[in-house]
Amino acid sequence: MSESTNWVANQSWEPGRVARPSTAEEVAALLREAGEAGSTAKAAGSRYSLTGSAATDGVQIVLELLSGVVEVDLSKHLVRARGGTKISNLNKALHAHGMALENLGDMDQQTLAGATATGTHGSGAGFGGLATMVRSLEIALPDGSLVECSAEHEPDLFDAARVSLGALGVVTELTLEVLPSFRLHVVEEPRTLTEALVRLGDDVADTDHYELQWYPHTDRVMTKYSTRLAPDDPRDEPRPGWRRLVDKRIVEHVVLEGVNRACSMVPVITPAAKAVTAQRLSRREYTAFSHEVFVHGHRPRFIETEYAVPAPVVKDVLLELKAWTDDAGSTITHPVKVRFSAPDDLWMSPSYQRQSAWISVQQYHRMDHVDYFAAFEDIVAAHDGRPHWGKLHRLGAKSLARLYPRYEDFLAMRERVDPKRVMSNQYLRRVLGD
Ligand SMILES: Cc1cc2nc3c(=O)[nH]c(=O)nc-3n(C[C@H](O)[C@H](O)[C@H](O)COP(=O)(O)OP(=O)(O)OC[C@H]3O[C@@H](n4cnc5c(N)ncnc54)[C@H](O)[C@@H]3O)c2cc1C
Repeated sequence: MSESTNWVANQSWEPGRVARPSTAEEVAALLREAGEAGSTAKAAGSRYSLTGSAATDGVQIVLELLSGVVEVDLSKHLVRARGGTKISNLNKALHAHGMALENLGDMDQQTLAGATATGTHGSGAGFGGLATMVRSLEIALPDGSLVECSAEHEPDLFDAARVSLGALGVVTELTLEVLPSFRLHVVEEPRTLTEALVRLGDDVADTDHYELQWYPHTDRVMTKYSTRLAPDDPRDEPRPGWRRLVDKRIVEHVVLEGVNRACSMVPVITPAAKAVTAQRLSRREYTAFSHEVFVHGHRPRFIETEYAVPAPVVKDVLLELKAWTDDAGSTITHPVKVRFSAPDDLWMSPSYQRQSAWISVQQYHRMDHVDYFAAFEDIVAAHDGRPHWGKLHRLGAKSLARLYPRYEDFLAMRERVDPKRVMSNQYLRRVLGD
């Protein structure tokens, strides 16, 4: 990945210059200098966002040297880490101390600050996204000051800066609440979509971390039930087959990449090819440490849009989407993923004060996604869907102001900390205005 593209290379840009600060003070100085020069600056994490949110023609602040765990406080269950720390490295460090994050998304290559800035989440109706685990953070503001904020100190800045869209400054360190390491007992069970939807309410309520993947062009679904185990639970033994399962998944992903390439060359074969894939889904049951279960890792490259909708409307959205994909002519390579999260109080979080279902729609990156994503966005718009900040979406300031009750407060906070719009770029001008 070059420094001027994102993970799937659907976004590219030319930074005016690239800086690699190794201290928070250097980050603050870069922002102050950019402001004084009438220029802009933008933090880049791992550039896994599919939007242009990390793009800049000003100073690209690459945080790879501002990474690593600062402190693990076992007695208070807190970890302090630098903003550029990759989630995978944080997981390793925590595991070595017998600790773990409460919940995770399905990928661990993002940075802590990039993932929280965009509201990255996993699944579990009783759990919030990564940003809800943050207990305090240090942010370099565009005027060159360094501020530590928390629920006690600068609480408004704290509520705005945990999911900040990168608009308020550069997060240099974060303190997160963590838990003693735990294992998950997982059952992956293929079902029909009809059956999965009938039992959905109970499955979501009765399972710590429930998710499903529906395979368009078919009625097949893979449901995944992950249950948190107490240390003395008899199922608390990692299965010897766990490693083999990981290896099998790598092979499956290589095969899938080949199938997707064939589909991109002859799109008309896609429904049949995907029906064969969906027929091969089989039941799996295993136990493993939480981070090994949450994170899937390898997969063919894709492009994606994802929205959080009010949890009660998730069935309607899926059935409307199925009706659209059943129409002749649509060729969709990737499953639709459905996850759940608890309401939170972070101003720009898509789960703000709403029990949410997240619906993610993906397409192999070499195939056309435009009509499919537009149809999906039409459907979720009618259900007050809020877009994931790290995934493609078409919404602008006017629609977002209606969807986010604290949108105006967020704009006021941006005006307070960044009146010169040092942190601005094309993406932020679209979603927040000038
Ligand atoms: C394969 C893949 C799997 C994914 N899986 C999930 C998932 O399971 N759940 C989910 O919710 N999302 C998922 N995502 C989305 C991903 O978590 C987000 O896009 C996240 O932002 C990526 O973090 P990053 O470090 O790459 O940030 P970047 O893409 O580099 O930056 C994202 C934004 O954060 C800002 N930023 C970066 N660092 C800082 C900082 N230090 N201070 C302030 N702002 C900063 C940037 O300026 C930019 O605006 C996935 C994406 C991909 C490509």
